[in-house]
Amino acid sequence: MAIVGAGMSGLCMAAKLRQAGFDDLVVHESAGEVGGTWRDNTYPGLSCDVPARFYSYSFAPHAGWSRNFAPGAEIQRYFVGASADLGLRRHIRFDSEIARADWDGRRYRLRTTDGHTDHADVLIAATGILREPRLPDIEGLSSFAGAAFHSARWDHSVPLRGKRIAVIGTGSTGVQITSALAGVAKPLTLFQRTAQWILPLPQLPYSPVSRAALRVVPGLNRLSYRSYQHIMELVFGHAAVEPGWQRSAVAEVCRSYLRLAIRDPRLRAKLTPPDDPMCKRLIMSASFYPALRRRDVHLVTDSITRVEPAGIRTSDGRLHEVDVIVLATGFDAHAFLRPMELVGEHGQTLSDAWRDGPRGYRTVAVPGFPNFFTLIGPHSPIGNHSLIAIAETQADYVLGWLERIRSGSVSTVVPTAEATEEFNTALRSAMPSTVWTTGCDSWYLGADGVPELWPWTPAVHRRMLASPVLPHFQVT
Ligand code: NAP
Repeated sequence: MAIVGAGMSGLCMAAKLRQAGFDDLVVHESAGEVGGTWRDNTYPGLSCDVPARFYSYSFAPHAGWSRNFAPGAEIQRYFVGASADLGLRRHIRFDSEIARADWDGRRYRLRTTDGHTDHADVLIAATGILREPRLPDIEGLSSFAGAAFHSARWDHSVPLRGKRIAVIGTGSTGVQITSALAGVAKPLTLFQRTAQWILPLPQLPYSPVSRAALRVVPGLNRLSYRSYQHIMELVFGHAAVEPGWQRSAVAEVCRSYLRLAIRDPRLRAKLTPPDDPMCKRLIMSASFYPALRRRDVHLVTDSITRVEPAGIRTSDGRLHEVDVIVLATGFDAHAFLRPMELVGEHGQTLSDAWRDGPRGYRTVAVPGFPNFFTLIGPHSPIGNHSLIAIAETQADYVLGWLERIRSGSVSTVVPTAEATEEFNTALRSAMPSTVWTTGCDSWYLGADGVPELWPWTPAVHRRMLASPVLPHFQVT
């Protein structure tokens, strides 16, 4: 078995396989360490906005989280520790980037970018979704005389204290960076193209007593995990996908928070989004509005016309002179697996199969590509939920097929085009009830403007992946 990627989902799959007694597995990791997005993102202020006691593997609870929303470095240490504690590191081939995988009718022939080859009976893509930085197409960016870098490629050699720093982008990343660098930069200028709704969830430290209690009584940790899961699913799980009290409540909290936290009407007008809360991914922060109230933090809403050696020129003709430009401009969320190429039955490539956008069977498999599975694949329930919980559901499902392959009752398995089409039709017809179609642009939307998300609750995802529906597959 070959897993591509040793990020959160690849480690999850490897751990499940090890627990089930599978030993013949290799995890190909293009970088030199595990962790995926948590390894790559090291920007100031990085933390996870899903509660830490829920954003952990259910099979590897961690009592030591320092805060309710864990800092990025702490999460990265958790994944490195889990990979060692669960005995996964000996299965990981670091600096091994798969360039291409070809199905030869029986198994996949893998080729790495440095020319090595390998074989796998089963191929599992755990390559994540937010890994390809999206650089803005702004004229003159390369002419800038200071330092300019993407948030996921932070240049730690660049001094920040007392510098004039520009942050471009107001997604979750830009908001966290702005909150962290307010007071460090002199001044910080935030360039906002579209205002975003903010839900004020404060960062709170966990006391040593509560951490010790969770360590001594593991049941408390499980209870905490389940409680957060229940609350997240009850509120955000429903709010995003169907109108109801959850959606109204989240919207009301966001609107009231903006009203109460920003008293200056001009600043409030600039910060009022044109769309409904949660249409774009909801941002959790109790420190962003306080940062914007500072005198040394400026919010610019005039559009950027170009970058010049001395700074950023906006449409009002003004040049904002800066020393550092941070591009918090997001990721290409639709570059599943890329740049790796996958070749399935009859020489069909995944690029061809996905010419009109990534389409899969129930987020875990693709017709035409036997013995190939995806974790956090197309249309996975992402939004504001714990991706770890989603990856666990998918890994358990994949494991079910692998048990069948191990027992000899199955040699190859691939979803039918009909079942995949039926699933995608149902998915599209459910989209109009979701908040993502209420009129905004976001990385959730595919090239055709249809959200590439799961339009039902996480519970429906669990139900759909509880066990394979055999007529939906071609099995030999
Ligand atoms: P993002 O949500 O895609 O936001 C990108 C921002 O850059 C938007 O404000 C966008 O404006 C702006 N932008 C893009 N191109 C621009 C241009 N040419 N000129 C001016 N502004 C431009 O990206 P992100 O903030 O990196 O977040 C991506 C996702 O990562 C999040 O939604 C979340 O899923 C994940 N994330 C999670 C956490 C966490 O705590 N769990 C933290 C960070 C990120 P428009 O809105 O106008 O397009």
